[in-house]
Amino acid sequence: MKQPPVPSYYRATATPYETYVPLQGRQEVRVAVVGGGYAGLNVVLGLAERGVRDVMLLEREQIGFGASGRNGGFVFAGYSLGEQALLDQLGAARARSLFGLTTAAVQRIRERVEQYAIACDVVDEGVIWANWFRDPAVLRERQQLLATHYDTQWDWLPQDSLRERVNSGRYADGLYERNALHLHPLNYAIGLAAAAAGQGVCIHENSDVWRLRREGAHWRLDTAHGVVLAEQVVLACGGYLAGLQRSIDRSVLPIATYVMTTEPLGPRLDTCLRTRAAVYDSRFAFDYYRPLADTRLLWGGRIAIRNRSPHAVKRLLRKDLLRVFPQLEGVNIDYAWSGLMSYARHQMPQLGSDGNGLWWAQAFGGHGLAPTCAAGELLAAAIAEDDPAWRQFADYGLVSAGKPLGFLAAQASYWWQESRDWLKTRLEG
Ligand SMILES: Cc1cc2nc3c(=O)[nH]c(=O)nc-3n(C[C@H](O)[C@H](O)[C@H](O)COP(=O)(O)OP(=O)(O)OC[C@H]3O[C@@H](n4cnc5c(N)ncnc54)[C@H](O)[C@@H]3O)c2cc1C
Repeated sequence: MKQPPVPSYYRATATPYETYVPLQGRQEVRVAVVGGGYAGLNVVLGLAERGVRDVMLLEREQIGFGASGRNGGFVFAGYSLGEQALLDQLGAARARSLFGLTTAAVQRIRERVEQYAIACDVVDEGVIWANWFRDPAVLRERQQLLATHYDTQWDWLPQDSLRERVNSGRYADGLYERNALHLHPLNYAIGLAAAAAGQGVCIHENSDVWRLRREGAHWRLDTAHGVVLAEQVVLACGGYLAGLQRSIDRSVLPIATYVMTTEPLGPRLDTCLRTRAAVYDSRFAFDYYRPLADTRLLWGGRIAIRNRSPHAVKRLLRKDLLRVFPQLEGVNIDYAWSGLMSYARHQMPQLGSDGNGLWWAQAFGGHGLAPTCAAGELLAAAIAEDDPAWRQFADYGLVSAGKPLGFLAAQASYWWQESRDWLKTRLEG
């Protein structure tokens, strides 16, 4: 179903480009990728970089229409599933290897932005994890876990150092993750598309694939005005569900989350942030925010099972903002929007194949920038070179998300965790 365009800051400041024409007529390709978010874009770019010709990407709306053009723009290693759970589930060596894919992806993103001259406002100044609670144990444990099992050093930020950077009475100590950055997510997506198109990938926007089926030795994809026959197909539709294969769609829950930006703050920005790093906090339902080049503050948070109107998002997030930065009382909010993440029950990305030329890459949750880059590399290498490395994700298959009850379970779990955090805050006084 068509959705109205989002009045997002990212759309308003998107790099202009000549739109990619919708698919027309009948075509044959080696690989067709459905979904013009990071997952699909990273696959096609990975294929193009490996010299695979005859690659097509089909996007229902515009490049970056989904989560990839609406997100917080934090680029950091790891997955939605936390590092401790990854370790418990896979053991030290395999957990380290999967985590390492995302550390490498952070570096690959830096390199690609430079190599393809993608103008996406990269701020390579790290990310701060600010402790909402006074108890430092959670920070200490995570710092140690990362150092011991993931070769990753996060620096301790005592409360006064944190306060110098983030002028809020809300936080105790913090951790600083140096190997992280933030960027304009939609312009990054637009840049990935341009890089792929520049190497021969055929991109079609406004091309909703409404049917996928086998036809002889090929997969046949139908759009309103075209048909594609492909040897291999990759479905990369995130929370915006392709509607093409029941087993693939039913394995993810689309979960909404919200973002807004203030008006340009000028010198008022310094009353809140004296760092260019991005910030999030240690609660389950954390706030996340970062300064933008034009002195706006971009602010995100909350998780829900439905999208909300920009007006409702503004109202909710403004309350959250003022709880952290009361000095911004009266500030105007210029843009607010929501986006859908795709979550699997196991909270890990789902990368897989039916063994007959159909692939999927989805369920990146709220931690998608680096993992989609890693996934794109794995699937491109699998398709181009028969590289089996993607099988590292085999433990995290297409498990049913149990819809519609899964939505209720997700909402209940969110409320439960939120109330635990609320109680902990109250008990700490
Ligand atoms: C508000 C928000 C904040 C976030 N913040 C961060 C963050 O700061 N850092 C981070 O790492 N991650 C963040 N994430 C998560 C990250 O954005 C996602 O994990 C990532 O963008 C997922 O990419 P994707 O390609 O799988 O899906 P999407 O970007 O959602 O792309 C899927 C695309 O498929 C298209 N599509 C669907 N069906 C069809 C069809 N039948 N035919 C053609 N096209 C179709 C859709 O139109 C859509 O464009 C956030 C997500 C949201 C929503």
